[in-house]
Amino acid sequence: MAKLKKFQTHIGGKWCDAESGNTFESEDPYTGEPWALIPKCDEADVNKAVDAAYDAWDSGTWAETTATARGRMMRKLGDLIAENAEMLAEIEVRDNGKLISEMSAQCKYLPEWYYYYGGLADKITGTVIASDKPDTFNYTLREPVGVCAMIVPWNSPLLLVGWKLAPALAAGCTCVIKPSEFTSASLLEFMKLVDEAGFPPGVINVVTGTGKEAGEPLVTHPKVAKVAFTGGGLSGRRVYELAAKGLKKVSLELGGKSPNIVFDDCILEDAVNGAISGIFAASGQTCIAGSRLLVQESIHDEFMEKLIEVASQARMGDPKLTETQVGPVTTPPQYEKVLDYIGIAKDEGATCVLGGGPAGADEGGGKYFVKPTIFDNVTNDMRIAQEEVFGPVLSVIKFKDEEEAIAIGNDVVYGLAAGVWTQNLKRATIMAKRLRAGTVWINTYRAVSVTSPFGGYKQSGIGRENGQEAIEQYLQTKSVMINTAEGSGNPFVMKVAGSD
Ligand code: NAD
Repeated sequence: MAKLKKFQTHIGGKWCDAESGNTFESEDPYTGEPWALIPKCDEADVNKAVDAAYDAWDSGTWAETTATARGRMMRKLGDLIAENAEMLAEIEVRDNGKLISEMSAQCKYLPEWYYYYGGLADKITGTVIASDKPDTFNYTLREPVGVCAMIVPWNSPLLLVGWKLAPALAAGCTCVIKPSEFTSASLLEFMKLVDEAGFPPGVINVVTGTGKEAGEPLVTHPKVAKVAFTGGGLSGRRVYELAAKGLKKVSLELGGKSPNIVFDDCILEDAVNGAISGIFAASGQTCIAGSRLLVQESIHDEFMEKLIEVASQARMGDPKLTETQVGPVTTPPQYEKVLDYIGIAKDEGATCVLGGGPAGADEGGGKYFVKPTIFDNVTNDMRIAQEEVFGPVLSVIKFKDEEEAIAIGNDVVYGLAAGVWTQNLKRATIMAKRLRAGTVWINTYRAVSVTSPFGGYKQSGIGRENGQEAIEQYLQTKSVMINTAEGSGNPFVMKVAGSD
């Protein structure tokens, strides 16, 4: 076995091992072999990291740094990420097995978060209130909420950190980040860039480890003011419950079962590509996967023929090669889960028209590969239509008309995203209005932008990331009232408008 690369975590501006000295291995999902050794942090490390973040926010250099200087530092970090994007992408591929083409595109786009929110940092302003009290000067201050806990999953590690970290830094918060135990390495490499950009010690801290041992003490720590979480629904609920005990501010980005809806007036080739990109890109391991494909019955047979033709040619293989189109599933439990759902769909009576099981080395696959899988004749009450699989498994459901498409599209507990394929502008506008999802794509799919708010309706989450709105999650408003009158008035009466 190759020698493991040993990483340290980064707390209070210093590289360190876990206080316990414990470590865990990170596996390369393509080879199935461990490649990195990561500190196994627990409550002791969390306490150290939160104290460092609290000191930096409360009294340290960060508290005294102007918003303009914060923005400048963030833009420098953006430049450093841009210079190192390929290196960061290669590490992410090593850890999560997603395609180099996908991770490289993500890492090259990542600097935009630090540029965009770096630019916003010194545009956060309070207001002067037109007070109803003649002798009062009233203004508001927009202040950082304090120490933020950020917990992210394995599928897009640095991108999902950026969605939280960039607005939080712009707002003046400090943070402790817990990456997924499956993909810690890229964030630890990223911390070298944080140091180089000149961020003061304690502003950004990392605790690596499991959800139970490192995540829970972080969420419950009394000095943590806000929790920003991306992950699955079960963990999200647990995090929400724990955070509620401390009345913390919470934002949650959770799972989805997004409808990708194809009307008979679509451009067929575009819609086929849209269906493929909705489910087989990233091997379906994306929260916005268009895992329910709703096809108008009048074009069902023609559409399915083309879809199967294209999907069956998807090249499986080494995710480090740019020509690969479908890589492995990232984690062993996820691999088992995907295969279980394929079994469930077959038992439920869905018709498997492509794939339907593991992909061996002879097909370009390997240890954790699942063949691109399509189930036809799915009905929306089946588990395969209702539950998030997070793998390359597509459920195809027929519909008659707009009303039925909307009813089926919305009949699910999730509401993260939806796609609509049509050339009819009126129909597109009606669908966009009536689909209950945080993002609706018309004639495109999986388009994400730093400038555009992203988040879930229903059980897909709470709060929005990206765009100007996201910064609100990290700010709180203080109202300052200055009495400009002589005297202090009657001390036994509340100073409401008109009194005194
Ligand atoms: P997960 O919920 O298992 O883990 C996510 C993170 O939460 C990890 O860092 C994990 O260690 C931590 N965690 C788990 N239990 C915890 C607990 N009790 N307390 C504190 N932290 C805890 O999710 P995953 O398997 O890593 O990622 C896949 C899930 O993430 C999918 O459901 C997917 O839809 C979702 N996701 C959502 C978005 C979005 O923006 N909506 C984006 C990507 C992924």
